[in-house]
Amino acid sequence: MASCRGAESKCNLLRTTKTTASTMSTAGKVIKCKAAVAWEPSKPLSIEDIEVAPPKAHEVRIKIISSGVCGSDHSALNQIIQTPFPVILGHEGIGVVESIGEGVTKVKPGDKVIPLFVPECGKCRGCNTPNSNMCVKSEFASGGLTGLMEDGTSRFTCKGKMIHHYAGTSTFSEYTVVSDLCIAKVDANAPIEACLIGCGFATGYGAAINTAMVTKGSSCAVFGLGGVGFSAIAGCKNAGASRIIGVGSHKEKFPKAMEMGATECVSTKDHEKPIHEVICGMTNGGVDFAIECTGRISTMMTALQSTYPCNGVAVLQGVASPQDILSLHPGLLLSGRTLKGSIYGGYKSAGITKLVQDYMSKKFTLDHLISKRLNMAEINEAFELIRSGTGIRSIMIY
Ligand code: NAP
Ligand code: ZN
Repeated sequence: MASCRGAESKCNLLRTTKTTASTMSTAGKVIKCKAAVAWEPSKPLSIEDIEVAPPKAHEVRIKIISSGVCGSDHSALNQIIQTPFPVILGHEGIGVVESIGEGVTKVKPGDKVIPLFVPECGKCRGCNTPNSNMCVKSEFASGGLTGLMEDGTSRFTCKGKMIHHYAGTSTFSEYTVVSDLCIAKVDANAPIEACLIGCGFATGYGAAINTAMVTKGSSCAVFGLGGVGFSAIAGCKNAGASRIIGVGSHKEKFPKAMEMGATECVSTKDHEKPIHEVICGMTNGGVDFAIECTGRISTMMTALQSTYPCNGVAVLQGVASPQDILSLHPGLLLSGRTLKGSIYGGYKSAGITKLVQDYMSKKFTLDHLISKRLNMAEINEAFELIRSGTGIRSIMIY
């Protein structure tokens, strides 16, 4: 994989150069390109020829190089995350700036960037709170995705119809337009795999490092062995945890979880008794840190109950449906446990830039996360892998 990565880096450099050279011919013009359009909820996506309008003031048009397919894209397609249709999903990408709108100073054409699904205005209370990234401009904070740019319009059309944006990113398109508040400039040599830092890796890794604040020598349990769960394992490992228990229902993913840093794995299918009892039995009363990465309410409770009563910390990452209610007896917290959560691992834009640097200097690997490499035409296969729970992360290379 390492030698392959080197080759891809060179290839990406070439792509970067090409894109820079082509910038002059496309800036200010509508670009026609391919995108995976979700016309209706819960239906397969269609590869379509779309038009992408030039960026307006404080917007950036990006040529996407690669995009991961995240559990949250599956949730949006199935309306667990509510977003307007028709829509171009995708929020875990990397690309190169093709052109910029008036007033953009953060990036210039040719820069390699990761679009951020959490904006950073830099001025609000959330932006100025350490370890928080909940900018007042975030639609996740205000509770409703509009699928539109800040001026209330879309930059995408297909067959004469307006197509919505998703999470301010829409990376399932060869070109996308994002706000300049939603962008992190990254190393020009960052390879295609670094798209995973656009969501899943940062989310799970940050959940361990920034939110749980996993300590050296501690015990951890990670629930849900998808892209976010694998990344949480990496975070626990790099924080120096001495025990990292991966908990999941698909045993075939366990060897990879161990390569990622899990010290042992527990199958939810192997036990009659509740899983929190199994974890507490294995860890002298409970783990120091539990990180939930499934989006299932029952697993969120299991994570909390798996922590040691006097000081355990449970972190929720999963996105539950609007109808889901987490109901718990307060006694679970009175004993001293902490229940918390975070979006995007608490990372702001500078944190994403730094994560890419850390990846380039081999502080962690993304290799074990990638279970499938696809092209855009195969995107529905990636959704099928999420549905079945058998994949870890699929990435699409454009
Ligand atoms: P994923 O690839 O779908 O992985 C989730 C894993 O949880 C599955 O691989 C499966 O693992 C288990 N699982 C979930 N639902 C299941 C079910 N109904 N039956 C059986 N197993 C199930 O998702 P992901 O991309 O890792 O994301 C995990 C969660 O985090 C999702 O809810 C996603 O929406 C959310 N998310 C949150 C943020 C944030 O900022 N907070 C960012 C990204 C994603 P096992 O085989 O191990 O059981
Ligand atoms: Zn995601």
